[in-house]
Amino acid sequence: MNKHAFLNKKVTLVKSCLVAALISYLPLSQANPDKFYATPDLQAKSPAAFALTESNQLWLKDAHHQREQDAQRFFNALKNEEKLFNSLQKWQSLSFEQRMALLPLVFKVECQILDMVCPELVINNSLYPTRAVNFVFDVRFPGSGLVFLNPDKLKDMAVYAPLAFLIHETRHAYQFQLGFSQQSLLAKGYKAAFTAQAGLSGYSFSDFLTLLNEYEAFQFANHVIGLLIDWRIDMPNMGTFASQFDDKGQLKINLVDLAEANGNKSLLDAYNQQAKAHYYLRNAK
Ligand SMILES: [Zn+2]
Repeated sequence: MNKHAFLNKKVTLVKSCLVAALISYLPLSQANPDKFYATPDLQAKSPAAFALTESNQLWLKDAHHQREQDAQRFFNALKNEEKLFNSLQKWQSLSFEQRMALLPLVFKVECQILDMVCPELVINNSLYPTRAVNFVFDVRFPGSGLVFLNPDKLKDMAVYAPLAFLIHETRHAYQFQLGFSQQSLLAKGYKAAFTAQAGLSGYSFSDFLTLLNEYEAFQFANHVIGLLIDWRIDMPNMGTFASQFDDKGQLKINLVDLAEANGNKSLLDAYNQQAKAHYYLRNAK
């Protein structure tokens, strides 16, 4: 489909992780417990789609392993692009325009590393003017997807947000293509997650961000940024604590470890218990 026709179909195509971005950047004072914690009733509607479902433990182990390998390969490939890598190393001292100019170069490397059909990349303020970022997909007509970034919105976000979201949204293209082209355990999980994302409503912050595709895309982007800057930056708005790393490169909440250490409590309840620190952080004055 040509670009024009593709964009004209956007009304039916749009199902996005924009919601994640919006939730992440809500003013802290607006967060309330019902909108923050994971909710069993919502997740029970599509158990296969969520990282907090005990029967997805094998999926999580596979996904963690794949993410570790892919993040390291991506980092090594960036390192081989000496000019780009040097610019990424001094990201904080660059102007916003200079940072944005690097994103298509990072995108190109990510596409190569993830061995997928490169999705369309649109960076402007007009395709979805009210949105900061978007991964456009249609589960009825699976294709390569479209990654959208809006500079007007990103410039008000944290310093590393444009880079993290570029990596995150492009990771969705890999997940989406895998989910709708293969029958592996990972593929089935991604297919369930994109399907639930397109079909369910009423998500809390933790519900949406523990969808397998969101959980993993935030982990992947946070992992790559961590490697780039030696885990020296904390990005508390990038996913739940189950997708974020501490300053030693360890997951703040490791759902695999949590499930193994967990007694009679459900994994969802155990996650909610551990997520209190994140809730309080988001509500700190
Ligand atoms: Zn997303």
